[in-house]
Amino acid sequence: MRCKAKGKLTPVDVVDHVKPVRYFPELTMEPSNWQSLCYACNAEKAREDEAKYKHMQPGGGSKS
Ligand SMILES: [Zn+2]
Repeated sequence: MRCKAKGKLTPVDVVDHVKPVRYFPELTMEPSNWQSLCYACNAEKAREDEAKYKHMQPGGGSKS
């Protein structure tokens, strides 16, 4: 969990999807795709995900 990786303990604010459901809608209800983050980490991850997956078509998966 990235909050702990930063050496601080923060209360869970949000349940984040490891692979963003915008790009992987089939993983919305997949527990292995869930992780707990605080708001700060979630916002940071959202930016990283945007860069990481921007080559993909939202909502459609990776096939093309
Ligand atoms: Zn955090």
